[in-house]
Amino acid sequence: MEKVSIVIPVYNEEDNLELLLAKLQALTDFEWEAIFVNDGSKDQSTEILDELAQKEARVKVVHFLKNYGQTAAMAAGFANAQYDIVVPMDADLQNDPADIVHLLAKMTKGYDVVSGWRKDRQDATWTRVWPSNLANSLISYITGVKLHDYGCTLKAYKKEVIQEIRLYGEMHRFIPAYAAWHGAKVTEIEVKHHPRIHGQTKYGLGKTFRVILDLLVVKFLMDYPTRPMHFFGLAGFYGFLLSFIFAIWAIVLKLLALRTFSSTPLPMISAIFFVVGMQLILMGLLAEMVMRNSYEGQNKTTYKIRNKVNF
Ligand code: UDP
Ligand code: MG
Repeated sequence: MEKVSIVIPVYNEEDNLELLLAKLQALTDFEWEAIFVNDGSKDQSTEILDELAQKEARVKVVHFLKNYGQTAAMAAGFANAQYDIVVPMDADLQNDPADIVHLLAKMTKGYDVVSGWRKDRQDATWTRVWPSNLANSLISYITGVKLHDYGCTLKAYKKEVIQEIRLYGEMHRFIPAYAAWHGAKVTEIEVKHHPRIHGQTKYGLGKTFRVILDLLVVKFLMDYPTRPMHFFGLAGFYGFLLSFIFAIWAIVLKLLALRTFSSTPLPMISAIFFVVGMQLILMGLLAEMVMRNSYEGQNKTTYKIRNKVNF
């Protein structure tokens, strides 16, 4: 039988935990452990989790010192998972544990990542579903990995896929994209989604903006991790180019005696672009220093080897 580590971030979910455990206990198609990561809950979740762990040996609990956010909670769960398949899931009963077996079935067809797609999503339409649809199209477009629902926590991963990935910010949702860039086979299946009955959502519209900012970071780190100067330097050159064009424009007007330097904003605009260009190039130099520092400090190579032959 397959063995699955289920990773469950928990922040103030006191009324959901027992019901969730009952649903997990009803799973019989595979062996499992459930790693609950208590992300600094301020309600009774802490005590309840300890009780559940007393009753059920397959329940494991990691208590955080304070609230670090869902991504950190998931990272801690991944780091403590002992089985070869890892399935993160929300604690609020919006994801359905009964879907895990479908994720596993898809995985046996040769996939390393099977992502859940909450096709019929039961969240606030205006503040959550629509912004999230927009974010999903944007992420799919920019990362080149087409998924309908990056934000769904319920996904199944082969352990190797997540082992090397470090998670920051709201970035747990980008794991499928990272995995695909590193050669993993990624797919998605529809999963059920239930409205939240107990407790409250921790997110609102602001989440989408944070996700889009994280996407910028991911995109940058994907394309330029070892050569930030190419990014900043290029932008800097465009700054210089614009500065030059505006300067020439101002000079031509002056030579033709159509306008004096002080009667148009052109010299001013030219100067601004010059300074911006300069700043960008200096920033590129700084980024290069930071990047080298981080690679050399950790003895990291700028490449990854699949395997070596005849050494
Ligand atoms: N969560 C967490 N830390 C946080 C916020 C949320 O561990 O700081 C957990 C929360 O308990 C739940 C999951 O992350 O299990 C998803 O949160 P929520 O249901 O509020 O998000 P939504 O489903 O509304 O996107
Ligand atoms: Mg939820």
